[in-house]
Amino acid sequence: MTGHADRGGDDVPARADVVVVGGGPAGTLAAAAAAANAHTVLIERAPNRPVRCAGLIGPQGMKALELPQGHVVAEIRGVEVYGPRGSRLELVSSKPKGFVVDRGSLDQLLLQRARAAGVDVRAGVAATGWEPGRLFTTRGVVEAPVIVGADGPRSGVARWGGLPPPPRLLVGLQHVVIADGPQDRVELFVGGELPSGCFGWTVPAGSGRSRVGVATPRGREGPGLLQRLVDRRFPDAPTVDRTAGLIPVGVPDKTVGPGVLLVGDAAGQVKPLSGGGLYYGAICARLAGQCAARGPDHLGEYERRWREELGEEISFGLAVRRLVEDLSEEELVGVLSVLCGTRVASFLAQEGDIDRPGALLEEMLRRPSLWAEGLPLFSVLGGWKRVHELVSGLRSPWDKA
Ligand SMILES: Cc1cc2nc3c(=O)[nH]c(=O)nc-3n(C[C@H](O)[C@H](O)[C@H](O)COP(=O)(O)OP(=O)(O)OC[C@H]3O[C@@H](n4cnc5c(N)ncnc54)[C@H](O)[C@@H]3O)c2cc1C
Repeated sequence: MTGHADRGGDDVPARADVVVVGGGPAGTLAAAAAAANAHTVLIERAPNRPVRCAGLIGPQGMKALELPQGHVVAEIRGVEVYGPRGSRLELVSSKPKGFVVDRGSLDQLLLQRARAAGVDVRAGVAATGWEPGRLFTTRGVVEAPVIVGADGPRSGVARWGGLPPPPRLLVGLQHVVIADGPQDRVELFVGGELPSGCFGWTVPAGSGRSRVGVATPRGREGPGLLQRLVDRRFPDAPTVDRTAGLIPVGVPDKTVGPGVLLVGDAAGQVKPLSGGGLYYGAICARLAGQCAARGPDHLGEYERRWREELGEEISFGLAVRRLVEDLSEEELVGVLSVLCGTRVASFLAQEGDIDRPGALLEEMLRRPSLWAEGLPLFSVLGGWKRVHELVSGLRSPWDKA
C-alpha cells in the first residue's frame, strides 16, 4: 500500500476494504489503524472547517494521541471552580494534570499520519447516504464491506442507517480573547448566572490569549451566557475568534449495524462531565480501525471492547453530571465551601485524573482518613436522606453505557 496525496475533486475509488466518513481526530485515527491491514479510504467534506475545541487534554489523552510536547501551548496544574454567590474551590496540584494544545495543528498532524499510514484521503468529498456495502458520495460510489461513521455528533451515517443518535446534545460556544488569565489552570463556572445543566470555562491559549466558553442544553441562551462570562472575566478584551459546536452527552444503545460502525462524537464517546471527546475518541478509534480492517463480521467485537474499556467511566460521569444538576444553588454553595481548604480538596487536586475521574471515587473510599472531612456535607445537603437520593444515581446507571 502506498501513501496518497489529498485528491479533492477526483472521483472516489470504486472499491475499498474500509471507507471512513469524517476527517476529525476519530476518523483519521480509525483510518490509520485500519490501513495497517486493509485498503482504506477517508472522505472529509470540509477540510478547512473552523476549530471547535478548547484543546484541553489529560496526560493519558496525550499518550493516546501520541502528541509531541511541541503541540502544547500551556501546561495545566489545576482548576478553580467558581460557584454561585462568590463560592470558590481551588484544586491545584504540584504536577501537570492536563495540557492545552492547538487543535488546528493537532488535526493536521493526525491527517498527515493517516496519509503516511497509507490512507487514501479524499478532501472536499461529502457522503450523501449508504446501504450495506456501498457508500454514496458527492464524487461517486465506493463499494466497501465496512463503513466507519466518524462524522461528528449529528452523524449522517448513523441517521441513514437507522442507528440511534447520542441521547443528549449540548451546544458549546467559545470565544478566543486577547487577554491573559491564570497560565497554569482552568477556570470552571457553575451555577449563579449559568442555569442548571450549563457550565462555563476559561483555558489559557498561549501568546496572551484565552479561550472562554459555555456549554448549554438550550442553544438559544448560549450567546448571551457566553457574552456575560466574557464581560465578567475579561472586560474590554478584544475577541478574535468565535466558534460553536455540538457536544454529545451519553452514548446511544447501539454503535454498530450490518457493515457499519460509529466512532468518536458520532458514538457519543465523550466525557459527560467536561464534554472532552479527544481522549475517548482516540481509544475507540484505534479499536474501530482494527476491527473494521478484519471485516464486517468483527464489528460486534468493536462494540463489546469499547464498552468494556470506557462504559463504566462514562456511566460514572453521567451520574455525577446528574448529581450536580440536581443540587440546589444553596447546596452547591455549601458543597464548594465545605470542601474548600480540606484534605479532601488536596487529595482531589493531587490524585484527580481528568481522563479517568471514576477511579478517584474508589481510591477515596479506600482512605478512611478522608471520610471524616466529608461528614459536614451531610448537614449542607440536609441529611442522610438527601445524600442517599443524590448518590443512589451513582450506582444505578453503572453498567448501562
Ligand atoms: C466548544 C467546544 C469545546 C471543546 N473542547 C474540548 C476540549 O477542550 N477537549 C476535548 O477533548 N474535547 C473538546 N471538545 C470536543 C471535541 O472537539 C470533539 O469530541 C472532537 O472533535 C470529536 O472528534 P470527531 O472526529 O469524532 O468529530 P469531529 O471533530 O466533529 O469531526 C467530524 C468530521 O466529519 C466531517 N463530516 C461530517 N459529515 C460528513 C459527511 N457527510 N461527509 C464527509 N465528511 C463529513 C466533518 O466535516 C468533520 O470534519 C469540544 C467541543 C466543543 C464544541
